Amino acid sequence: MFDGFLALRPACEHCGLSYEFADSGDGPAVFVMFAVGFLVIALVLWTEISYSPPLWVHALIWVPVTIALSLGALRAFKGVLIGLQYRHSAAEGVIDRSDDA
Ligand SMILES: [Zn+2]
Repeated sequence: MFDGFLALRPACEHCGLSYEFADSGDGPAVFVMFAVGFLVIALVLWTEISYSPPLWVHALIWVPVTIALSLGALRAFKGVLIGLQYRHSAAEGVIDRSDDA
């Protein structure tokens, strides 16, 4: 479904579903910040308590780990959120349900 790192194709390459409805906005980034932030801070605290390394060791480990995890998770979260948006017909404003009986 992706064309490039995060850009979407115009439509699904398998079933032809148009991705025009898809707008995950800031959602994926927020989930990634919570998930990766929680995980990395837990690991930082565990490392500090267990080994008490100097600060530059923390920086050397956690800056690349945080960047890698964030970039790695971003696509997955965006895909999941667009899937959920499609499943629940989520959109801005009022959804026309006049044909629902
Ligand atoms: Zn499809």
